Order: sequence, then C-alpha cells, then structure tokens
Amino acid sequence: MSRLASELHRLRRSPWEVLCSALVSCGLVLFSQLAVAIVPRLLPSISLLAMLPVAGLVFLAAILVGRFWRRFIGVAASAPLFVLFNVLFLWGVYLFVIRRDTSSLLDMLINAECALLLWGLYRILSGDPGIVAYESSFLEEAGCKDFVDAICSSEKYPSLSRVRHCNCCKANVRGYDHHCPAFGNCIGQKNHRLFMALLTGFVVAESTYTMCSTKYITSCITSGTLRTENHLSLNMVIGTMLFSVLQVIWQGCVPDMACVRHLLQHQDG
Ligand SMILES: [Zn+2]
Repeated sequence: MSRLASELHRLRRSPWEVLCSALVSCGLVLFSQLAVAIVPRLLPSISLLAMLPVAGLVFLAAILVGRFWRRFIGVAASAPLFVLFNVLFLWGVYLFVIRRDTSSLLDMLINAECALLLWGLYRILSGDPGIVAYESSFLEEAGCKDFVDAICSSEKYPSLSRVRHCNCCKANVRGYDHHCPAFGNCIGQKNHRLFMALLTGFVVAESTYTMCSTKYITSCITSGTLRTENHLSLNMVIGTMLFSVLQVIWQGCVPDMACVRHLLQHQDG
C-alpha cells in the first residue's frame, strides 16, 4: 500500500472525500479571512486595538456560518486543512502585498518560518505518535477480549502503563497526551516534541507576520499612500494582521489549540 493510500486509510476517507473536504476547508478560510478584512473597511475610524475584539467576533461568526452551511452541502471541513490553508493564505498575502516593504533579513526569516511550518504540519499529520501494535496471541495470553481491556488492567503489564486508546484514530498510543484535530493526529511519545515545536513555530511565525504587516501599514501612512493604496489589499493586510495577533493571544492562553478543536471537531468528521 502506498504512503498516500495508507494515510487515507488511517483517516478513513476516500480520495474524493478528501478533495471535497479540501475545497470546503479552502472556502471556509477565504470566507473567514474576507470577513475579518471587512472590519477595517466598516470601522475605519477606530484604532487597530479596538478592532481586535471585533475581528475576533467576526471570525467566530464566520466559522459558525460555515458550520451551518455544512448541513446543506453535506461535506465537512477538515481542521488540519483549515490550519494549512490559513498558513498558505497568510504567506500569499505576505508574498503578493507586504513583501515590498520588508527588509531582506525579515523576508528571509518569514519565508523560512512559513516553509518550516508546512514541513512540520506534514510531519505531524503523517508521523507515528507512538502507536503500539500487539499480536492477538498477547491478548489471548492476557485473557483480555481486546486491547482496550488489556490497557484497563495495565497494572499487570508495566509495558502498557503509558498506553492509552484514542477513539478518533482507533489506535493505542504510548505516552498518549491528547488527540489534536487541528493537527489531525494523536499527540504521544514520538511526536510530543514536534507538537511543542510546532506550537512555538506558529507563535513565532505569526509574531513575525504581525511585525511585517505593521511595517507595511506604517509605511503606507508615512508615505501618504494610504488613500491611493488598493483598498482590498490594504484591508486584507490589516485583517490578516488582526488574525495573527488573535492567534498569538489564543495560542498563548490555550496552548493545545483547544478552541480550534471545539469549533471544528464536528466538521472534522
Ligand atoms: Zn488520535
């Protein structure tokens, strides 16, 4: 079985379902990012700080509208793809709009951070969190009807003491911490460090993005091009900057992206 086929098997999805889910996730990212970009357009006279809570509410409302539409289209968005497309969207806004006002050092830094985030997302989505596979003879010997039963009586088997069963993945994972829908995998012994590095990477990349977008907005104000600047691109920069700041605050308060989990767990299918 090829790597892709085994990955689809693990996700219990056909290629067609994954494609539909990817399209819905991409649409949800565009819809939510455009909704946030409308905030500076509708409220141009308030400060960026005052826009922050409004942008947060608009983003949540856009996600809830997306969830509501799921009932009509019958296809669920995927939380990992939602995260992936958000990274690509922010990177795209940076490359096509913000980049011209960024120093070459900062340019190198943010491009490297985005590339590393994509690589880390791929690694955590496809990597082994520490899945434990036991022969059926082990269960017979232990007198347990299944592996979950064996884990329950793990005091008899020290090797199972840190193994937990994940209902989402239908797998037994050593050093199980939690199932993370935002990254589409269990977090266990083998990928816990990568998980922490990825969370840190998100905060660092979003902070760098906020720095670059602030520089772009300041440059528009000081050079007097604010009025002549394309409104859509400028609002998009302000919207994505607000989104990045919200993400940094969010991840600082909720390190395991629990909010994303609660918002998208039903869409994850
Ligand atoms: Zn899991």
